[in-house]
Amino acid sequence: MTKKTQSVRRVQAREAEFKCPLCGGPMTVREASSLVCENRHTFDFAKQGYLNFAPHAQAGGYTKPLFEARRRIIAESGLYAPLHDKLAEAVAAYGPGAGGPAMIADVGCGEGSHLAMILRRRGDPDAGAIGVDLARDAVQMAAAAYEGPIWLVGDLANLPFRDGTFGVLLNLLSPANYREFGRVLAPGGLLLKAVPRAGYLRELREALFGGRERERYANDATVARFERQMRLLDVVRVRHARTLGREALRDLARMTPLAWSADPARAEAFAARETAEVTVDVDLLIGRNGPPGRP
Ligand SMILES: [Zn+2]
Repeated sequence: MTKKTQSVRRVQAREAEFKCPLCGGPMTVREASSLVCENRHTFDFAKQGYLNFAPHAQAGGYTKPLFEARRRIIAESGLYAPLHDKLAEAVAAYGPGAGGPAMIADVGCGEGSHLAMILRRRGDPDAGAIGVDLARDAVQMAAAAYEGPIWLVGDLANLPFRDGTFGVLLNLLSPANYREFGRVLAPGGLLLKAVPRAGYLRELREALFGGRERERYANDATVARFERQMRLLDVVRVRHARTLGREALRDLARMTPLAWSADPARAEAFAARETAEVTVDVDLLIGRNGPPGRP
C-alpha cells in the first residue's frame, strides 16, 4: 500500500472530525485523492501521504537542510530525550480522561520528530495522532519518516477540525494560538506547551553572540498569557545537558534560527568543535481547557 493510500485510509476513518477551513462544512474523502467539503472546497493528499490545507503557504527561511538537521538532533542525538520522557509522563498523568477523545495533536510539529518520539514512549500507539505545521517541506519530511500519525499542512489559527476534537495538544518550542487551541481541545482536554528558559542552548548562543545577546527568555509573560486562556495545573522545569559530537554540533548550528543573525565565522567555529556540552532548559506548561487561572 502506498503512503498516500495509507494516509487516505487513516483520514477516512476520522473524516467526521474534520471541518472545512474555508466554510466550516463537513468533509468527506473523494476518489482516494482529496478531502472535499459540501461546498466543494477541495484539499489534496500529496503522494508522500500528507494532506495540504494551505497550498499557498510560504515558510520564510526554513529550508529542507534545516529540517533534516532538526530531525537528526531530535530523533538521533538524544538531546531532547529527557523532555520527551517528561512529556510522555505528563500525557499519562493528566489526560485524556476516560470517555473523552484520545486524539493527540502536535500543533507546530515541524518535521514531526518530537511527536514521533513522544508516541514511541506511550503505551497506546494506536490512539490517533495528528501533526500540523505550515511548512510544507517539514510536513513532507514527517510523512516520509513517520507512518503512524496523520500529517497535514495547515494554519494554526484556522485548524481544519471540529470543536472539541482533541484530548491532548502539544505545542513545543513553537508559537501558540490559544483561542484556536481552546476550540479544538475537548472540555478538560490537556495542553502541554514547552517554552525555552534562559539556559536553553546557552552554549550555542554564547558561541554565536559572545554574551552580546539580549536576555530574551523570561517566561513570566508567556505563563500569564497561558493562564488567561487555560487552567494552569503545573509548570515543570526540564533541564539537562548532553555532550554532542561534531556532526551533531554542526546540525545544531544549522537547525536554529539563532544562527541566521550570527556572524558566519562564529557559527563555523562552533560547528568545528570536536565535542561540546549543550544545555536544554525549558518550562513545561501543563494546562487544562477550562476556566482560566489556577486550580
Ligand atoms: Zn468548504
